[in-house]
Amino acid sequence: MTTADPPRPAAPRTPAPSDGGAARTDWVSAVPFLAAHAAPLAALFVTVSAADWVLCGVLYVVRMFFITAGYHRYFSHRSYRMSRPVQFLMALGGATAAQKGPLWWAGHHRLHHRFSDTDRDVHSPRDGFWWSHVGWILSTRYKQTRPELVRDFAAYPELRVLDRFAWAVPWAVGIVCLAVGGWGALLVGFILSTVLLWHATFTVNSLAHVFGRRRFATSDTSRNSLLIALVTHGEGWHNNHHHLPASARQGFAWWEIDLSWYVLRVLAVLHVVRDLKRPPARLLTHARVRDGAFDIGMFRSHWERAASVAARAGSRIGSVRALGTASGPPPAGLPPGEHAPGEPAAGEPVPEAADAGSALAGLISRALETADELAASTRRLRSEGAGLPGT
Ligand SMILES: [Zn+2]
Ligand SMILES: [Zn+2]
Repeated sequence: MTTADPPRPAAPRTPAPSDGGAARTDWVSAVPFLAAHAAPLAALFVTVSAADWVLCGVLYVVRMFFITAGYHRYFSHRSYRMSRPVQFLMALGGATAAQKGPLWWAGHHRLHHRFSDTDRDVHSPRDGFWWSHVGWILSTRYKQTRPELVRDFAAYPELRVLDRFAWAVPWAVGIVCLAVGGWGALLVGFILSTVLLWHATFTVNSLAHVFGRRRFATSDTSRNSLLIALVTHGEGWHNNHHHLPASARQGFAWWEIDLSWYVLRVLAVLHVVRDLKRPPARLLTHARVRDGAFDIGMFRSHWERAASVAARAGSRIGSVRALGTASGPPPAGLPPGEHAPGEPAAGEPVPEAADAGSALAGLISRALETADELAASTRRLRSEGAGLPGT
């Protein structure tokens, strides 16, 4: 590299643990989680009735409502209101789904919105599919509830107690299923529906940032997917949701099926919940990709992938050239396999290639820094313009 003003080396873009500590698997959580996946197979050795399958379906549908309307749209985003007793029942219903407590769930979800698809996102697919799908949940890094992220709800002692002992709730439901309905009710009715619930919920974190269409130019990679919306009561309209996170309604078009929204409308009529926030009409036509809005979310994503490809290619070019140099005839007086002073050994990067790789990575890193700033200001402007919280 001979330019007078070489770009800065690429800054390391490694995940920054928001909870501190390395990302190791928490086996205390992972063992029951994995065991639950194997447990339904035991149903092959017991009598399973039609009622057990009905129970499986009912527990899936009802608990998905508590997760999506309760843990997500209420505790994470405060997109509507309810009385304190109903609030507790909503939290209790969410806890039956074995996805930890409401404060843990909402706190980490707020982090996801605050840092979507950046180094500080708790479950971005940029860190790999399995990490975004399930790895982050089973890691020690995000094991603890962080009350400072949910001060509004952590102020309620009953929610703090529920969050602390959330693990006991699904165990209690399982025991009741076993006592009332037998092994079929436990294995198929409860455990199988719990496993299906897990993976349907997890697809919103993993696949809804990978597959589907983008209507709005958000600062992340969220997508809209009918398939995911169908299995998650409307959460598959994830790009809509990242555009207007405080809206209780996530399917904006009439054909965007959003079951949790329909149920919330009924509960509002019955005065169980109130003040449902709807997407403001002026923002439904704001920042649309088809209208030419600059899609900063995908721009950043493509540049990040380019950075990683460039870094890999740079080191590979260096290694290949070094191999070529070292595999040639050794200079006179040197035994085979050895190299002259100042020359790279086999496998070592050639200095010019390493410089070129470093320069390219530096340029991309600069572009990414600009994109990061633009994404942050896009997110801030969107929140301020909408008069909605950014979480
Ligand atoms: Zn998301
Ligand atoms: Zn959300």
